[in-house]
Amino acid sequence: ARARAAIADRARRVADFPKPGIAFKDLTPVLADPEGLSAIVTALTHGCSRVDLVAGIDARGFLLGGAVARELQVGVLAVRKGGKLPPPVIAIDYQLEYGTARLEIPADGIELVGRRVLVVDDVLATGGTSVAAARLLEQAGAEVIGFAVIMELAGLGGRETIAAGLGDVPVHSV
Ligand code: IMP
Repeated sequence: ARARAAIADRARRVADFPKPGIAFKDLTPVLADPEGLSAIVTALTHGCSRVDLVAGIDARGFLLGGAVARELQVGVLAVRKGGKLPPPVIAIDYQLEYGTARLEIPADGIELVGRRVLVVDDVLATGGTSVAAARLLEQAGAEVIGFAVIMELAGLGGRETIAAGLGDVPVHSV
């Protein structure tokens, strides 16, 4: 209830961003508020057990992922957009509505084999980004045990896309 109230009070809806016809949900004011961040992190980590690592998706997932990881007393990994990380990287290309996008993680220095990873982001829309991030982590040998997002946009099929692509992986949204 605290988290929902924080979202209701502070989330902004921006018409026609990033493209005409799209209503963008801006959650940055929720995260910038002490009560908002605290309530969101509490809600997202409630009942969450046996997580070895949190993966935050570029870029607002980094903010939230760090806070969620600290709460769960585990480490955090940034799943970055293409071209930002030093080599060697593992990459995945995936389809957007128009064109393609790339996500990357480091290929060295982080043990991912057999580790139970929680994927964190601010907004789940079509689910394409979440599925790509999960496949990337699985390529590196990790087990994706769930998704945690602040907001799920109804009607875009994110949950269904995750179920179709990854099977029975829990999706937790506030
Ligand atoms: P999807 O791949 O369509 O699920 O899009 C999810 C990705 O795009 C996430 O990384 C989100 O941060 C971002 N995104 C999509 N729609 C919105 C929005 O309305 N507000 C904020 N981020 C969004």
